[in-house]
Amino acid sequence: MPVNSDSQSFQGVIDEIPYISVDYFLYVQSSLALFLSHCHADHMKGLDSHELYQTVKTKPGLFIYCSAITKKILSDWPIYCKLSPYLKVLELNQTVKIDLPSDDCSDGHPSKISFCVTSIPSGHCPGSVMFLYEGIFGTVLYTGDFRIAKGDSKKFQAFMSNPSRPEYGLKTIDHIYLDCTFCTDAARTFPSRQTSVEKTIALVNSWIAKSPEHKVLFTLAGRGFGAEFLFVEVYRKLNVQVHTSDFKHKIYSNLPDIKNAISRQPTTSIHACSEGRASSKTHSSPCFKDSNKVLTIRLSTQWHLMDGKNVDSRVVVDEGGIQRVLFSMHSSLEEIQDMAQTLKPRKVTPIAKPDPVTTETIAQLLDCKVKMPTSRFRSRHDD
Ligand SMILES: [Zn+2]
Ligand SMILES: [Zn+2]
Repeated sequence: MPVNSDSQSFQGVIDEIPYISVDYFLYVQSSLALFLSHCHADHMKGLDSHELYQTVKTKPGLFIYCSAITKKILSDWPIYCKLSPYLKVLELNQTVKIDLPSDDCSDGHPSKISFCVTSIPSGHCPGSVMFLYEGIFGTVLYTGDFRIAKGDSKKFQAFMSNPSRPEYGLKTIDHIYLDCTFCTDAARTFPSRQTSVEKTIALVNSWIAKSPEHKVLFTLAGRGFGAEFLFVEVYRKLNVQVHTSDFKHKIYSNLPDIKNAISRQPTTSIHACSEGRASSKTHSSPCFKDSNKVLTIRLSTQWHLMDGKNVDSRVVVDEGGIQRVLFSMHSSLEEIQDMAQTLKPRKVTPIAKPDPVTTETIAQLLDCKVKMPTSRFRSRHDD
């Protein structure tokens, strides 16, 4: 199920706050603040570009706002580390007032600009956050990618009108830029992440108990982050560390929640070191001598949604020797609906959606007005 065609893709434009750019770092010369929700390639377009580096270097007061973990990841990532002085950390669940440089408003933006932003954990991958923007323009939520269980969105203090008086209810949210990756009937429910983790740990445990030569290989999509929660749980339950690539090891070793769960020792029984091979059918790693004693586990979601697979009852499916575990980093349709019903936004803009799913379908599924993202190029002329 392909997600987003180019004509509909999100290009960082928040209609209410046109002088910022979120998760999009191309053509941002006139932006006054930049925001990065998490470290996945589709949210980092242009982040490695020379233009962006020149822009942040030469424009005083222009920062890329992100979570502390995102800053740590980028600071240990060779192509992004030079951005480190320009990454400004937003502490989780803290509302911060941002005053933007007022002498650089040549685009006809108001001469003094300030607004509040709160970063809220989004449950998607290490460091991932949502941004809640509040200002004269109203209240706008940008979810980035998220996995939030049913019933959990109403627990976030940032959404409460008065956190010390929860009975006052939730804030009115004018507009949500929403992760609709699984806004489709095919993805109605997913097993909870805890269920996926427990089934995976059971699988791993029964395999590595056979002999010290029996190994497990997790295959992941490219250099993506997202399975770390599983590594941490595997280590907590089985006391076995996961061997990762040098690239990831360097990054993880600075993340206190993850560093104990991973290892540079290829002698460990569990490996996630075969980066960039997720698309191949057979998996090998220089760490293994006897491939007959390797159990390959692939964490996936889209594969499980294809015709004829019942995602409700089959968390683990054997695909010709590869164990496919349904492990979603995005909310299911029911979880997205729960968030929309809880926050009752006046309007939703999908920042990612399955290609065949129309605006009308999303409006119907979420019972809400839906607007497609504004193009960065059109918005410049409309300002
Ligand atoms: Zn993501
Ligand atoms: Zn290995």
